[in-house]
Amino acid sequence: MAFEFIQAELNKRSEAGLLRSRQCLDSSEGTLIEVAGAHYLNFSSNDYLGMRQSQDVLQSWVEGMSLYGAGSGASPLVTGYTKAHRELEEYLAAELGRDAVLLFNSGFAANQAICQALLNKQCHVVADKLIHASFIDGALASEARLHRFRHNDIAHLTSVLSELSGDILLATEGVFSMDGDLGLISEILKTTSPHQTMLMLDDAHGFGVLGESGMGSVEEFSLNQQQLPVLMGTFGKAVGTAGAFVAGRQELIDYLINFSRHYIYSTAMPPAQAVATLTSIKLLRDGKRQKVLKHNIATFRSLAQENGIPLMSSESPIQPVPIGEPNRAVRLSEKLKSLGIWVNAIRTPTVPKGTDRLRITITAEHTATEILALVDALSLSLSTLSER
Ligand SMILES: *Cc1c(COP(=O)(O)O)cnc(C)c1O
Repeated sequence: MAFEFIQAELNKRSEAGLLRSRQCLDSSEGTLIEVAGAHYLNFSSNDYLGMRQSQDVLQSWVEGMSLYGAGSGASPLVTGYTKAHRELEEYLAAELGRDAVLLFNSGFAANQAICQALLNKQCHVVADKLIHASFIDGALASEARLHRFRHNDIAHLTSVLSELSGDILLATEGVFSMDGDLGLISEILKTTSPHQTMLMLDDAHGFGVLGESGMGSVEEFSLNQQQLPVLMGTFGKAVGTAGAFVAGRQELIDYLINFSRHYIYSTAMPPAQAVATLTSIKLLRDGKRQKVLKHNIATFRSLAQENGIPLMSSESPIQPVPIGEPNRAVRLSEKLKSLGIWVNAIRTPTVPKGTDRLRITITAEHTATEILALVDALSLSLSTLSER
């Protein structure tokens, strides 16, 4: 039979305790999710500010549909680009201090587009070891040579760069998606020169969360367009909708419109989604939810420390509990589920071998009681599992 590797690879994954499967949510409301008839407190959502269920955002989406219909009907270069898209782009460009912005259907597509359009045979791409799979895949599919530097290791980055010449795209993240720590952007800027490198930041987990008004790493670290020529952010996390953007110089955006296959050959995002996204971003800029979120993160960390729960050095909503072994991480996740707490186990190859973990996310929606319930369940699960 053709493609016999399909079953063989599934078997291998299964034997290694690494088989992935999905869990279907029957419903979700606030911090509660319903799966197979049971309710759980959700500590795995990237909806850090609770915007996903904001009445204003939902209302905007409905109004957007009544104006523009359910979908965009075409790719942006045909008739899919609307006033709703333009308003979102112009708002973001102005607020982020960039010349222009381009919308994509997902962060995955935006990262692929950046790599596909910008990286030719003469280029080098230098990326943090822990950068997201969507960027790595884009870089690998390009003709450029890919170099990785050890996570947040500026000395290693400097040594990698010292060996290279020509155009270099240097890529890192604002908030690392699995570890929750921040990219060392200020340090990178001190040790690199814009003549040699063009810096690209994937701010998927920073946008909405970092900065006084939620504009992400750009606001938190006052990064102007010259320092950070390629900014990517997503709407599926803190903004609570879906899609992504790339922001930068007008030439960069014009170039992507002309050369990015992910942009040209894909149906534009539904205009109503752009309307709802803009409403969400305007709402989250009051900074109130971010304050609650910070408070909740601090509450979780201090309770966890009091209870001897191992943590990583993250001040972001992403709070991993290192476990180190995939089967143990899964057993812990199952144990937590039996206690009504939903926390996914993140295993290799999503994270490096031996760093399997529980990836907890704290949101502004969680109450102090819910966070206490999480810490109690974690304590109990960790102690019952180590007794065996
Ligand atoms: C989620 C994520 C993406 C992909 O964004 P989607 O809009 O979900 O496709 C890209 N980069 C990072 C760092 C992410 O966490």
